[in-house]
Formats: sequence, structure tokens, C-alpha cells
Amino acid sequence: MNHKQALVNPIFEVVAQAAEELGFDCYVIGGFVRDYLLDRGTPKDIDIVTVGSGIALAKKVASKLKGKPKVSVFKNFGTAMIKNETIELEFVGARKESYHRDSRKPVVEDGTLEDDQKRRDFTINALAISLNKSDYGNILDPFDGVADLKAKIIRTPLEPSITYSDDPLRMMRAIRFATQLEFTIDQESLQAITKNKERIKIISKERIVDELHKIIESIQPSIGFALLHKTGLLPFILPELVALQGIEEIEGQRHKDNFWHTLEVVDNICETTDDLWLRWAALLHDIGKAPTKKFDKKLGWTFHGHEFVGSKMVYKLFKRLRMPLNDKMKFVQKMVRMSSRPIIISEDFTTDSAVRRLVFDAGDHIEDLMTLCEADITTKNPKKQKKYKNNFKIVRQKIREVEERDHVRNFQPPVSGEEIMKTFNIKPSKEIGIIKEAIKEAILEGEIPNEYEAAKLIMFDKGKELGLKIRK
Ligand code: ATP
Ligand code: MG
Repeated sequence: MNHKQALVNPIFEVVAQAAEELGFDCYVIGGFVRDYLLDRGTPKDIDIVTVGSGIALAKKVASKLKGKPKVSVFKNFGTAMIKNETIELEFVGARKESYHRDSRKPVVEDGTLEDDQKRRDFTINALAISLNKSDYGNILDPFDGVADLKAKIIRTPLEPSITYSDDPLRMMRAIRFATQLEFTIDQESLQAITKNKERIKIISKERIVDELHKIIESIQPSIGFALLHKTGLLPFILPELVALQGIEEIEGQRHKDNFWHTLEVVDNICETTDDLWLRWAALLHDIGKAPTKKFDKKLGWTFHGHEFVGSKMVYKLFKRLRMPLNDKMKFVQKMVRMSSRPIIISEDFTTDSAVRRLVFDAGDHIEDLMTLCEADITTKNPKKQKKYKNNFKIVRQKIREVEERDHVRNFQPPVSGEEIMKTFNIKPSKEIGIIKEAIKEAILEGEIPNEYEAAKLIMFDKGKELGLKIRK
């Protein structure tokens, strides 16, 4: 079957023309072809393989394009890239690869198209479409990738054990594609991944995290985490999650399996948010439960302080995986630390001050926190499910009411430090902090409204208590 319709982008004519002038054969290969056949929309990055020099072809193509875009050359890899606003073109010369055990850097020789297809990770990623005059638009599929696309199978072109051992990143890629595309990993591949799991150690943390992000950005990340678990890769990547797995029973009392619960929470939250970091927060929200788990004769299973312990673990985990230790990390920590707060309120609506404190502490992240808590409902009991959801609706309503009245979301002290200093004729000192704190507490407790006049009265009272004299 001909697939000229995959090549509607005028760039392909330019590439074909350039290759012909150089006397090279050339093909579109990999993700572009796969995603076209799956109708996943046209990807932004296009990989071109040529039986000849990829760098020479890239330069020729650039010289033919409007505005003569820059060519980035990676001499060591024999690849070159052209980037414009809409697409990224990557050029590589067809090659044969062989590997040494301790590195994922192969020894590379020039090769044929088929050699190049063999070095690709999966049959569905080894598909090529010809850009040559003689068979323009034809699919070249020596490993039955098209059949695997139809059957929704991830399979390696060569012997799986060698493929994964050569470049263990492929284990992560297999699981990532299985999650993104909702494909099944071929049995032999799955066994090979399990067998080679320890080799993931030679892969850089950054690359592992890239794949984790892609799993987490999928519609149903649990597919990926279940596979990481099943193959035994998870302990090398996120041991904190592995530690949540299992159910213990003492004196007839059982706790839930917090690993599978967590995966449900992640899938749930993906229905309401695309935010990568909120999804991470869902994944990590219970990690403090493993180290804090205790059995108490009266209380049963407890995880006392797991939110605080969990938020500390977030820092260590991000650091270990060389993830950014920036505001994103702080956001995840905050979500984990506060993850039980709305639940406690939903169980007891008696005081507005708890709601006010929640809004004050969560600030602009209050919406995200509520989203996390709602995703955290995984009970299979429809009655309970309904009750919990309804309770959170009430919490949300209370948040709106409190916010309208008291504006504590981005709290600004109603009386400034300046004014306190002037009033009591004092210099910057700890008394100012004490007075400000007293005003804030009075507002959060609901003793006074968040208003200037009321706050001033607290200032006078507290000042007096501290032995300060009002300036006449
Ligand atoms: P996406 O861009 O959606 O992540 P992709 O398949 O295009 O998917 P890339 O990382 O862009 O993935 O790689 C492009 C192509 O290069 C792949 O389709 C595959 O043929 C090949 N490839 C990438 N990484 C590997 C690898 N580790 N081992 C073998 N082949 C690989
Ligand atoms: Mg790609």
C-alpha cells in the first residue's frame, strides 16, 4: 500500500530532492511513521535516515529552505538537526550497531536501511516510508511492525534479551509506549526486561525521569507503574512506592494496600488535571505511610504524621532522581504535607476556623489540594463514595464562603509593621512580629474580621500586654 498521504508536509519534497541530488536513498523512519499509522496526529519531530551522510543531507536540505535555517551537527553521533518554528528534522546516516556490556554507547558502522531498522528498539518504531523516486510513499516493514501496530503489541526486531541488555533505556521505553499507546508488551520482551532489570543502573537518572514523566502524562499511568512493578524495575527507580505494597493483618485488622491505592489515585487525578506536578503529588501523596505504619491495640493501623514524613521524603526522592529542587518540588511537598487536611475538615464541619486556616496555608494551591483529595477517594462502596464526594462539595462551598468574607487566601496583614512602629514609637524589633502574629491568629480563629479597625484594636491590646506605650 502506498502512503503518500503521510508526506503532505512540503518539507518531504525538499528532503527527497536534496537526497536525489546527492545520490543518497532516504526514508522517514520511527515515531513519525508510527504516529501517522495510528492516526495520532502529525508529530513535531521527524526522523530521516539516509544511506549516505546524514550531515551532508541536512546541510543540503537547509540550503534549499526559506531563510536558510541553522544546522546543528552532532559529529560524534553522525547526526544533524534542523529546527524551525513548527518542526524538528533529525538526520542520520543508516548504520549498524554493536554494543559493549558496560555502556549504552554502541560501536557504529555504516549500514543499509535494514541494518538501521534492526538497531531500532521496537518493530513499531522501525517502520520507514520511502522518499525515493522509484517507490515514493512505500512502507518498508521488514519486521511486521504494521501487524504489531494493529495487534497493539510492543516487540523488538531482534532477540529481546540482547536488545534490552544492549541499551537498558529500552526497558523504560517499552513500558512508556505500552502506557502511552495502551499496547501490550510481548511476553518474551516482558521476560527479557525482568531478566535484565538490574541493567537499568547504567542509565542516567535524567533519562529515566524523562520516561517517568511521559508515563505520568499518559491517560492511565497505572498501566506503566504496574509494569514497572511486575518486571521488578520499580525498586531501582521508586523504592518508596514499592514499600507501600502489601496488606498486613494483626488481630483481624487489615489496612489497605497503599501501592495499588496510590495507582488508582493517580489514574483518578488524570481525569481532572493535566498538570504534571499535581500528578506527581498524587503518586507520592502516601509515601510517608511505609515508614510511619504502626499497629495500636485501640486504634488499629495508624500512619501518624505520614504527611510530614512523606513531604521530607519528596525532597530526598527528587534529589536522588536529579529532578529539579525548585518551586515544583516545593509544590509537590506542600501537596503531600497538606494531603489530609481537607479530609479532616470534611469529617467535622463544626468550625470555620479550620477552613480559614486551610485556605491560609494552601494559598493559591487550594484548588489543587481539593483536586488531590477528591482523587484520593477510592472506596468501592457506592454509598461511602457518594458520601465522601458530597462532603468535599461542602468543604468547597465553605472555602468559597470563608474566602468571600475573610480574604485569607493571599493574606496581607491589615495593619502594617510601619504603623505598629509608629503607634508605639519603636524601632524594628521582635514585638512587631508578635503583634502581627496576634492579629493574624485572631483573624484565622474568627475572633475578628479581616479588617483594619478590628485589627487595630488587637494591636493596642497586644501592645499593652507587651508593656508598650502609645505615642501621643
Ligand atoms: P516520541 O518522540 O513520541 O517519544 P519516538 O519513537 O519518535 O517517540 P524518539 O526518542 O523521538 O522516539 O526516537 C526516534 C526513533 O529513534 C524511535 O522511533 C526509534 O526508532 C529510535 N530510537 C530511539 N531511542 C532508541 C533506543 N534507545 N534504542 C533503539 N532505537 C531508538
Ligand atoms: Mg520522536
